[in-house]
Amino acid sequence: MSIECHCDGEVKYDADGCGHEWLDCLKCTRHLETYQSSDIFNDWRQLIATEKEEVKNMKKSIETIDFGNSKIPVWIISNGQKMMFDRPAYIDEDGGSPLSQMRDDECIVSPGAIYRVTNE
Ligand SMILES: [Zn+2]
Repeated sequence: MSIECHCDGEVKYDADGCGHEWLDCLKCTRHLETYQSSDIFNDWRQLIATEKEEVKNMKKSIETIDFGNSKIPVWIISNGQKMMFDRPAYIDEDGGSPLSQMRDDECIVSPGAIYRVTNE
C-alpha cells in the first residue's frame, strides 16, 4: 500500500509486530506513531488534512530571516497563538529531528526550524 505526504516525499511504513506502527516521511520528517490503530493509513490522511487546514489558517510575518537556503517568517500565528522563530532544530544522522530537543511550548514549523510561543 502506498501513501503520500503533502510535501510529495516518500512515506516509509514500519511496525514492531506488537501493535505499534509508524509512518515517516523521508522528506519533511513528518512522523505518525499509532498503537493498535485499525487503519494507520487513514490516520495519516487525517493528519495531513488537519495540517493543510492549519496551514490555510496560519498567518505569518512579512519580515523573514535567512535559514539555510530559504527564508522563513520571523513569527507565525497558528491557532491564534503567536510563535517566534527560536533556533534551528537538531537533525540526527537519520534525518529525523528528535522531539526531546523541544520544550512544551515549542514546535517545528518549516522543516528544521523551531518556533516558540510568545505572549507579545
Ligand atoms: Zn513530507
